Amino acid sequence: MNRAGRLYCFDIQIFRKSRVVPIMSLTDKGYRILMKDVIREGDPILRRKVEEVKFPLSDADRNAMDAMMRYLHESQDDELAEKYGLRPGVGISANQVGVDRRMFAVLFTDVMEEENPTLYEYKLFNPKIVSHSAAMTYLPDGEGCLSVDRPVEGIVPRYEKIKLKAYDENGKEILLKLKGYPAIVMQHELDHLNGVMFYDHINENDPQAEPKGVNIQSLW
Ligand SMILES: [Zn+2]
Repeated sequence: MNRAGRLYCFDIQIFRKSRVVPIMSLTDKGYRILMKDVIREGDPILRRKVEEVKFPLSDADRNAMDAMMRYLHESQDDELAEKYGLRPGVGISANQVGVDRRMFAVLFTDVMEEENPTLYEYKLFNPKIVSHSAAMTYLPDGEGCLSVDRPVEGIVPRYEKIKLKAYDENGKEILLKLKGYPAIVMQHELDHLNGVMFYDHINENDPQAEPKGVNIQSLW
């Protein structure tokens, strides 16, 4: 082989290598979730109870959770949301991106606190409601969901207060006492892990009817 030929072969190899585009999956480090990754209503994964997370966390579970939290941050950033076509979300559960694990990420401030509202930024694993109030509440404008591309009107009754037990990414127990908006968001996400959609709670015959025999008040 002459020198030019050798160079030629070398170039071909490089060319082939550069053609191998690494196809990342959601469980790889640094993945950016886009709307195409979000599972929409109708898919059975949104309708079944998902699997407990095991500790120590696998790299795949940790990476998926990081990608979910990244989605929330980017979707709430006007510039990035527009650039990547992201629908803003305050919470996302693992099965909404096709990952069969009991975990969700939330990122929001309490809409009821006017000055210096508390930031709720949590990656929660194996979350469970350990106790709740008898009193219920609901968002007067109804709820929305990244997995639902249509507006759904109606009252979604939620416990006004909950105690939520979960684990952080290091397997350390977290106990959260939540009231009002934060309690509503967590119940919406926890429902996903049990295969429940927010509209399952809406009165079919009269969507704006408050449930009877329950102490319930609109959040505002
Ligand atoms: Zn949802």
